[in-house]
Amino acid sequence: MMKIINTICPNCSVGCGVGLIVKDDKVLGVYPNKRHPINEGKNCLNGRTCYKIINHEKRLKNPLIKKNGAFVEVSWEEALNYIASHLKKYNGDEITFIASGKCTNEDNYALKKLADGLKAKIGHCICNSPKVDYAEISISGGIEDAKNIVIIGDVFSEHALIGRKVIKAKDKGAKITIFNTEEREILKLNADKFIKVDDYSDIDLNDFKDDLIIINAPIDTDKFKNNKFKNFKILPVAKHCNTVGATLLNIPALNREEYFNLLKDSEFLYIVGENPALVNKNILKDVDFLVVQDVIFTETADLADVVLPTKCWAEKDGTFTNFEKKIQHIKKAVDPQHKALEDWKIIKKLAEKLNINLGFESFDELHKEVMNYLKDLN
Ligand code: SF4
Repeated sequence: MMKIINTICPNCSVGCGVGLIVKDDKVLGVYPNKRHPINEGKNCLNGRTCYKIINHEKRLKNPLIKKNGAFVEVSWEEALNYIASHLKKYNGDEITFIASGKCTNEDNYALKKLADGLKAKIGHCICNSPKVDYAEISISGGIEDAKNIVIIGDVFSEHALIGRKVIKAKDKGAKITIFNTEEREILKLNADKFIKVDDYSDIDLNDFKDDLIIINAPIDTDKFKNNKFKNFKILPVAKHCNTVGATLLNIPALNREEYFNLLKDSEFLYIVGENPALVNKNILKDVDFLVVQDVIFTETADLADVVLPTKCWAEKDGTFTNFEKKIQHIKKAVDPQHKALEDWKIIKKLAEKLNINLGFESFDELHKEVMNYLKDLN
């Protein structure tokens, strides 16, 4: 029998509602959730293909250990014992965990607890997102009712559903000013005024009055803090579905340079859901022991000593925090066809091998603790 599971698109920070079409424990397709307040029955092209990761040709199916230069499939027990025995050889300051804006709040929270238990370093990469102290800043929506909108970066190509709201505002008479380092046609088409800049930090914010400023560029928004600029509201747009959530969990948000420096400084590196080797393979060359935990076999997994398969977003419950700091639930639609586990469950099992008590026994307990932690930050 066919059923529809309403969940959240994992492909960017907007957090649109999607309905997964499920039959015989298989996801056949996706359609936009017509009742969801964020996307109002629309999904962008990227969102319409979000279910394809489930049966991706590079899906990891079993834990892998590299033996004599080649990966060998092993049991969960063997993989976790192997990692634990290596972890014990390092001091906390030699160990780094990399969390991800693509993982749920529950997954990242569990990883942070393990890192804290080992007194290890932890961070997550914000890629080209603005750097924002989300705990301190109030996020302004109201795009469709704004009269003057300034966009720094490109929301039309990268977060199409935000672009749609800007176009609606323009139809109602809003004036649109766009700053970008590239002269993209789509930006010129939608702007009343397009300004090319060499560097986003050249933009003088004092020029703006009564504007809504949407920022989708690598800017440190310390200088945008509400107490400094009273003339405008700001709406930073994070890259991934849970970049904001990872930041709110107090996992250091790193720009590309800070991220690569942290990777380079690590002896024992445990990467969850990220693929730095796609950008720079050499960045990991001095890492002594590398664990990669991911949904698919990536360029970074190829360099690892141990690779652990995780459930994708359609195979588990959890929460994402979107660009407006709205916490939304994702729902399990299907079981994986292999041995993948939830990220938080793998982390808990590993913690047990290390005699570290993470303080929760089930997803429900973990979720409750995360919601408690986040409730004062919104
Ligand atoms: S705008 Fe983002 S969240 Fe919405 S459908 Fe597109 S990729 Fe998914």
